[in-house]
Amino acid sequence: MEIFLWYSILLGALFACALLTAYILNRWSTTLFYYRKYIHYPQIHKYFRGAVKTTGSDAISILAVWIVNALCVGVGVKDRTSLMKRSGLMAIANMIPLALGSRTGFIAYLFGIDPELYRRAHNWIGRISIIEGVLHSALAASSNGTWSRNAVSLVALVALSGIALGSIPFALTYFYEIFAKFHLMLAITLIVAIWRHLAPSSLLRPPKLYVFLTTCLWASNCLLQCMHMAYRNIKYGSSKVLRCSASIEAVTDAVLVEVKLARTWEFEAGQFVYLRLPEVSRTAFMQAHPFFVSWWDRDTLSLLIEPRRGFTGSLQLYAKEERTKKADLIAIIDGPYGKELDLTKFETVLLFATGIGIAGQLSYLKRLMEIKDRRATSIKRISLYWEMEYAEHQNWVLKKINSLLEKDRKYILKIEFYIRHSHRSDTIPIGKHGLLYENHKEMDSRSLVKDEMARNKGQMVVSLCVRNKVADTLRSTVAECMDRGVELVELDFRPT
Ligand SMILES: Cc1cc2nc3c(=O)[nH]c(=O)nc-3n(C[C@H](O)[C@H](O)[C@H](O)COP(=O)(O)OP(=O)(O)OC[C@H]3O[C@@H](n4cnc5c(N)ncnc54)[C@H](O)[C@@H]3O)c2cc1C
Repeated sequence: MEIFLWYSILLGALFACALLTAYILNRWSTTLFYYRKYIHYPQIHKYFRGAVKTTGSDAISILAVWIVNALCVGVGVKDRTSLMKRSGLMAIANMIPLALGSRTGFIAYLFGIDPELYRRAHNWIGRISIIEGVLHSALAASSNGTWSRNAVSLVALVALSGIALGSIPFALTYFYEIFAKFHLMLAITLIVAIWRHLAPSSLLRPPKLYVFLTTCLWASNCLLQCMHMAYRNIKYGSSKVLRCSASIEAVTDAVLVEVKLARTWEFEAGQFVYLRLPEVSRTAFMQAHPFFVSWWDRDTLSLLIEPRRGFTGSLQLYAKEERTKKADLIAIIDGPYGKELDLTKFETVLLFATGIGIAGQLSYLKRLMEIKDRRATSIKRISLYWEMEYAEHQNWVLKKINSLLEKDRKYILKIEFYIRHSHRSDTIPIGKHGLLYENHKEMDSRSLVKDEMARNKGQMVVSLCVRNKVADTLRSTVAECMDRGVELVELDFRPT
């Protein structure tokens, strides 16, 4: 138990430090301001992070987890055998939090943990566990053992290597679905192989206890998720069983999906659901993909989907086919995941979107414009800046935006569209309200945010759902020019 105790103590200390830091930062606004400006908002150099978002605070957390693991593996180790045992034990101990899944961790969702943060933690703890497992195998490879124990060790090593190979960015980008299925199969193989590899001992003693805990956690997570999905998707009415159903419509370069729900939900802005539409293609029943809930009412939710190569490409083809059924398709929903960010405490709200990122920002716009008691909020101005590729993409959301503009009795809303590919180069107003403009040029996000910050000195939030390059520009500009009242938030997805 000793090493796990140390690991728990060190992780606990890390968590306590994080809580203490958050407390101190909250109490002392000056500290908080400098922390945000120099650590929390800027990203580390591209050379270290690649295209992945990694801020200073992310880097510190990752480093701390590495250090805690290095200490637990290395401190007090006297010889090769004890190093082998330690690394193996730590590899298994790290599997316990991994069993909660990645972004869809239902238990993590119940505890209100941010899905993006949770996904990152899963990735990093997974990487560390793989390295510890490989170190353990390398040290064990030269030592003696019975044939059967070596065979299961080999299976465990192959499963570990398979998981590592499937996690490289190339595999994730081009073979996401295959990766996801293999990942699960390899993880189950790994757990079974580790169980068989372990010498007979009591279930209540480590390392068997850790494997048992991992399995229990994984099973409870799956069970809870299935129960939640069944609850969301099926309702037994007095005369018939109600299920979720979807209607789909192809629009220029996108597909609009409306899901009629089996039972009503209370939605929050910025939430996403995993959607499964089994009738769309032969393999679609095996696939569930995450999409922001861009709009909703009591029993319907709307998703705006940009076609890519896989499921979303098949969805577009299906929606365009002339004689196929486009309404009342079987839909299976898992979710919602994600937590709404409270934007009502700010005087100025700046929402930035590029391309399909509008799906995430539209839900916030809807939420903010539908607040009944404006006096309960601090909001004085809301601006939406949306850069799209072609002018036709406005039609994805124009009706909904117009309906929100009609609700804007106090003229707090201002909307600017930026069209990247256009033969014109001017700015024109859309509609009669004078609150919506169409700019035929690329969005200069740096100037926009700098001007806003120069003009407005109060509490301001800059919210992003934009492609990598624009996010990098906005992060560095906000960090460079920010005043004390400025905050920056990023939604759970960066469009390409
Ligand atoms: C929180 C969140 C919200 C999103 N909201 C929207 C939205 O509102 N509208 C929209 O059009 N897109 C949204 N996306 C992106 C959308 O999930 C992917 O475009 C979709 O899953 C691609 O499916 P595909 O089979 O066509 O992908 P492929 O063509 O196979 O791959 C395209 C890209 O999508 C990624 N991808 C594939 N499957 C998944 C998956 N199950 N989970 C995460 N990434 C995946 C791949 O890594 C690759 O980079 C969101 C993503 C996340 C994480």
